[in-house]
Amino acid sequence: MNIFKKTEDSQQITILNDFRQRINSAKMPENVKHIAERELEIMSKMSPASAEYTISLSYIDYLVSLPWDRKTSDNLDLNQAKKILDERHYGLNDVKERILEHLAVKVLVMNKKPHILVVDDEEIARNNIEHILKKENYDVVTASNGVEAIEKLNTSSFDVVLTDLKMEKIDGLVLLEKVKNKYPDVQVIMITAYAAVDSAIEAIKKGAFHYIAKPFRLDEVRSTVKHALDKKLSTISTKGSVLCFTGPPGTGKTSIGKSIADALGRKFARISVGGMKDEAEIRGHRRTYAGAMPGRIIEEIRRAESLNPVIMLDEIDKVGGQDFKGDPESALLEVLDPEQNQSFIDHYLDVPFDLSNVMFIATANIAENIQGPLRDRMEIIEFSGYTEDEKINIALLHLIPKQIREQGLSDYPPNFSVEAVSKIINDYTREAGTRNLERQISNICRKIATEFVYHKESIRLVNITPELVERYLGPRKYFIEVADENNRIGVVTGLVWMETGGEIIFIESARMKGLGNLILTGSLGNVMRESAQAALSYIRSNASSFNISENILEGYDIHIHIPAGAIPKDGPSAGATIAASLISLFTGKPARRDVAVSGELTLSGRILPVGGIKEKILAARRAGVKTIILPFKNKVDIENLDPKVIKGLEIILTDRIEDIISRLLV
Ligand code: ADP
Repeated sequence: MNIFKKTEDSQQITILNDFRQRINSAKMPENVKHIAERELEIMSKMSPASAEYTISLSYIDYLVSLPWDRKTSDNLDLNQAKKILDERHYGLNDVKERILEHLAVKVLVMNKKPHILVVDDEEIARNNIEHILKKENYDVVTASNGVEAIEKLNTSSFDVVLTDLKMEKIDGLVLLEKVKNKYPDVQVIMITAYAAVDSAIEAIKKGAFHYIAKPFRLDEVRSTVKHALDKKLSTISTKGSVLCFTGPPGTGKTSIGKSIADALGRKFARISVGGMKDEAEIRGHRRTYAGAMPGRIIEEIRRAESLNPVIMLDEIDKVGGQDFKGDPESALLEVLDPEQNQSFIDHYLDVPFDLSNVMFIATANIAENIQGPLRDRMEIIEFSGYTEDEKINIALLHLIPKQIREQGLSDYPPNFSVEAVSKIINDYTREAGTRNLERQISNICRKIATEFVYHKESIRLVNITPELVERYLGPRKYFIEVADENNRIGVVTGLVWMETGGEIIFIESARMKGLGNLILTGSLGNVMRESAQAALSYIRSNASSFNISENILEGYDIHIHIPAGAIPKDGPSAGATIAASLISLFTGKPARRDVAVSGELTLSGRILPVGGIKEKILAARRAGVKTIILPFKNKVDIENLDPKVIKGLEIILTDRIEDIISRLLV
């Protein structure tokens, strides 16, 4: 018994010693180290068989495994970054330019030598401080009194001012006030005699960053200045400091994010925050919970083994709102706020962790859906859907070579013809981005690889033609929705803008015996229902101008239906289309199916501008629409488009429903 007890004890001692060593080498900040040591102390008094022992053990293990001071050094060569972005992505020129600008600002901020002003009437002190700070590679300027300091402040910019408190004429407090009034971002550190600590505290109340008491210690001067500089840098461009990529799926948001990480030489991690309802997923569980875990942010940093990874927060427009499990949104706000995230507290860790080195990039499908306060923190960069031409290029230059590599076909790479790729795009995918396109290419490559494995004799260079595409992928999945159908009464082609990009819809109206009710079906949101009501009211109040009888509803119900799956549809942009469908129904004139309409309708018959123009036009093109009628006020959006997007399409701009009707009805 005794022998067992002894081995158990010595085992525990080994474990404790091991942890002590790991705590010492983990390079944690002093306060964290202290907490870890205290936990170890408590643990040493517990029975290794108890649950608490295991909890403490896991906790300390977690603390020491975090990269407290490990980070990758940034590669700040913009040319190299540009090269990586260009090599890996076709097109996206605006996006790349915006990203490089963003990085350029970071490079400037990080490479700038900090400027420091030292103000002291005592020459020895002044020279000493200057000497210490110059050794840190800062640009140091000195002034021997307040007047001189103010002159220097007026002519060049400083990040930090160190000033003696007691000086003739203009003393430290007056100088502090002047600096804070004129340059609120500049951090001021007071230098004071021990006896004057009270007035130093007074200075902090007035906005000074901190104070240093004379005679000062070297390391104290160094670390106080360093902290002041960190604070100054973190306040630079707080607003919009986080990039947010918005756009339909498969438009390259994730892969650009990964390229940014590679260009900077940083680790890359992704966290999907879409649908997150529980704050603990971001901020972790308190250790008192059974099975408590840290939040995803800290976990990803631990996995990245570096405290400055690029972390992509996916679907930030779909974060769950506040409920009994807390508010993930406010936790995210804290994570993204440079003023607060220097000391982010994960509930499990229960000690602050500095997130200010992490580069966060958010992604969203629709920028408007991001909650206001979160959106304010972000610099939005829009990705949009691709034209067929762009998709062909992306496929030939990137997707096909990648799939050939991944499916092990590098020795006998199949050769895809442009016609074949175009067939895959038109007959097997219907999307704004390139996700399904990549999937279908991967299917083809996999089938070829399988053939090679089963029939060694069939190994050869395959030329992929449209016929082969059909053989590999089966009968076509999509048809050109518009061209193949006849014009019908009460059915009008509309355009909507959704998370997945633009879509065409067909709005159908029918009239049947009833009590004058308006029936709406097809998963419509409230705004779309209201648009339908408004459209009907508009037509009733202007019946005569469309040659429609005033009592068209008497003894009848009207049914408006918008098919296309059970996809929820909302937004005001279908107003004009619904009105056109009703007028087609009431006048008995069929509507041209290859004409698509989008526009918000007011009760007085004016057409108001709508969003998502590029996505809508791309969708119309995919569906074979020939003419698109859009609100006149969207003229600028059209002018800003790449001419290739509208090439071959007839675009009509109008702000009157009568125009739409005369173009649309046969
Ligand atoms: P998102 O994150 O927007 O949903 P992804 O980054 O996952 O889209 O892109 C889907 C696929 O398409 C990836 O393989 C990506 O590399 C590729 N892709 C998208 N856009 C481009 C582009 N412009 N050039 C090259 N590849 C692209």
